[in-house]
Amino acid sequence: MINRTPFKIAIASGKGGTGKTTLATNLAACIAEQQEVVLVDLDVEEPNSGLFFEGRLLHSEDNLKMIPQWDESKCTLCGLCPKLCNFHAIIQLGPSILVFPELCHSCYACSELCPAGALPMIPRAIGKLNHFQNGRLHHIESRLNVGEEQAVASIAKSKKYAADKLPYVNVHLYDSPPGTSCPVVEAIKDADFVILVTEPTPFGLHDLTLAVETTHKLEKSFGVVINRDGLGNNEVIRYCQAENIPVLARIPNNRRIAELYSAGRLIYPEFPEIREALKDILDYCLSAERSRP
Ligand code: SF4
Ligand code: SF4
Repeated sequence: MINRTPFKIAIASGKGGTGKTTLATNLAACIAEQQEVVLVDLDVEEPNSGLFFEGRLLHSEDNLKMIPQWDESKCTLCGLCPKLCNFHAIIQLGPSILVFPELCHSCYACSELCPAGALPMIPRAIGKLNHFQNGRLHHIESRLNVGEEQAVASIAKSKKYAADKLPYVNVHLYDSPPGTSCPVVEAIKDADFVILVTEPTPFGLHDLTLAVETTHKLEKSFGVVINRDGLGNNEVIRYCQAENIPVLARIPNNRRIAELYSAGRLIYPEFPEIREALKDILDYCLSAERSRP
């Protein structure tokens, strides 16, 4: 592989439970047999790729966001700050100003426009970023505290941490959050290639079409991996053929795979055909890497 900036592969799906993390963790571990690789778990509300690795903790830090802190001694109760906040994160209740930190988007409007300077911004921990290492595999995860809604900021921070600390590692894998909303867009917007994981069912096809739409809008190169192949029908294959979307691999519907996953174990060591499929996926991604401008 040509050594420039890391080649970033996002693994995404239109909904949860399609096998996205199974693919991300197995692909990461398979690559790590040959070379260093970074797996960044961007499903910050429910990161679970760490269940599959016993890594050594190299670094841990708080993820912070800035929120206003009311200074009663300066406040004149002018009533302006609740009107300024677009997120209903600050209200006046009688002679008090209340801040709801989980709703605050750190826009600074109330703090900067308060005529009395009574709302200085202070840092608040909203979760943790952890960096583990297991042989050639670097595993980075951010975990939001329960109730916090700032997924996008934590996703951006995880990717930046990986880019800053591990720029020499050629492949960075992003285990993206499910869906097609803002966190997914944040996760895949700077990816060089996107792998969309789906199932061969009507629901899988529906969610895949939404994910394809999002990926097209972001002008990303992408391919599809069909998980639990054999479960439903051929509509996903037909759709991919009609839309000229490459199907990178088909992972069979197999009870043993489900057992391994639920036990927090990797699947490819027991399934040579899946090891081959992972190699095919990586080869396809590397061919995309070679055509990078
Ligand atoms: S804008 Fe400032 S002075 Fe006015 S109510 Fe809010 S905190 Fe108090
Ligand atoms: S910083 Fe912005 S989002 Fe947070 S409470 Fe103030 S106005 Fe609302």
